[in-house]
Amino acid sequence: MNDGLEKSEDMSLDAVGGLSRCAHWVDGHLYRDKTEKVMCVARPSDRKRLGDVPIAGRKTVDYAVQNAKESVKKSGWAHGSPRERAKVLRNWATLLEENSEELAKLESIGSTRPIREVVEHDIPFTAEGIRYFSEWTDKLGGEVAATSGDRFGFVHSQPYGVIGAISAWNFPLMMASWKCGAALAAGNAVVLKPSELTPFSALRFAELAIEAGMPPGVLNIVNGDGPRTGQYIIEHPGIGKVSFTGSRETGAKIMVAAAQNGPKPVTLELGGQSPQLVYEDVTDLDYVADCVAKGVLANGGQGCVAGSRLIAHKAVCEPIVERVMEKMDARKAGYTWDMDTTLAPIVSEGQMLRLESLVAKTCEAGGRAIVGGGRIRSVYGDAFYQPTILSNVAPGMACWDNEIFGPVLCVKEFSDDDEGVELAQHKDYGLAAGVHTSDIGRALRTVRALGAGTIWVNRYGRSYDFGLPTGGFGGSGFGKDLGREAVQESLQYKSTLIAI
Ligand code: NAD
Repeated sequence: MNDGLEKSEDMSLDAVGGLSRCAHWVDGHLYRDKTEKVMCVARPSDRKRLGDVPIAGRKTVDYAVQNAKESVKKSGWAHGSPRERAKVLRNWATLLEENSEELAKLESIGSTRPIREVVEHDIPFTAEGIRYFSEWTDKLGGEVAATSGDRFGFVHSQPYGVIGAISAWNFPLMMASWKCGAALAAGNAVVLKPSELTPFSALRFAELAIEAGMPPGVLNIVNGDGPRTGQYIIEHPGIGKVSFTGSRETGAKIMVAAAQNGPKPVTLELGGQSPQLVYEDVTDLDYVADCVAKGVLANGGQGCVAGSRLIAHKAVCEPIVERVMEKMDARKAGYTWDMDTTLAPIVSEGQMLRLESLVAKTCEAGGRAIVGGGRIRSVYGDAFYQPTILSNVAPGMACWDNEIFGPVLCVKEFSDDDEGVELAQHKDYGLAAGVHTSDIGRALRTVRALGAGTIWVNRYGRSYDFGLPTGGFGGSGFGKDLGREAVQESLQYKSTLIAI
């Protein structure tokens, strides 16, 4: 798979044509306004400069939105045959698979994603996600309402027109496929702003949509930062809805901006600080430890559903932690384009400093790093953080209260079920949770008690079960990506009443 991707000092996006594509994607082609300011994008693995990517100003955002508006109307994407739309989306999924090697290289060189995970997980997941959404194009037309006999009432769904999608850096292609898949299946056009840290793979993603038969202008990519390009998207009167994935803090700003510029509806997929709750009746400690380790180490802990808090019954806590330590030890830091890399770098120096500060504050407050607890300095540079286990942690400490976004596991013992559930429930976040038990009654009681958008029982992490919507409770946001709900939320509902 990684032929031609040797460990070399000058590894760059040139290898996959990425560096020459510091641009936007509008109306089915690369677009660049030479007067725009640029942002220097560094690759996370070693902080080397990848390219200067333009920051879309109001003019470019306006160009993209106007194009999207016209295209969605004129091309028949919104109101043409839904089966045709499905066909294009299916073709696109196939092309994503056929071009998986190139996409995987683009993604892993330009992000924190180790190439093995991208090949084995992200690209198939991206393609299959688009295929899943293709199946919804003609399923949500509406329904006839029960009305008095002298009238006939029906509700029918209509796309918003243009959906503005703003996404995070941690799984760039997967995020793009969730945001775009649902919106496009529902008949909308999309203007997507990828994160300023990972702007490259979305361009190829959009280019393949054209090859698949999507009309030019239906999917547009505008690169740029949040305060400028992101804000311009929200403020643009041609944007009917905003679909956002990112931090809780930014989510609040998005909501204010959407309220002041419309108001227009928003979907907020925000952060988490998810628990893995382990009862003493588990039978396979090694399996549980594997779930815990994978849950906190995937993408170097930089996942919205990272299982950063292990809450384990005192009878099984120690043996599980011992096993998690062994699994952490087996992880190998390295360049993201090396097939044997199993630990992702921390995306930026800013995120690294934040992570170091959270751990330092936790230790000052009484927490103890029983494994790790610092940056890895090696031939690969200093962009990696040691897989870390913190004991003696409690609510109120920095690494318990805040989303960590690094390979750091907080461990806390409990003695009875009520205490376990109370610890598992975070004061702010409710994105995901894991529950491990061999007692189905206990599992279901816990599922009922926890306020989280996704709960995994006797497993942890995303699967190909796209029918399960993903999204948060409380401070983790509202609205759904994936599932029927994601498509429904990309539609508005019109009631019609006819006098007979
Ligand atoms: P972030 O909030 O810093 O940025 C997310 C996006 O918002 C970026 O594209 C950024 O440019 C844009 N943005 C920033 N400020 C903006 C503003 N004022 N107006 C408009 N746009 C603005 O988040 P991040 O660091 O890129 O991503 C990490 C966060 O995303 C974590 O909190 C993580 O949990 C969350 N996340 C959630 C999910 C989910 O499904 N719930 C998935 C992935 C990531």
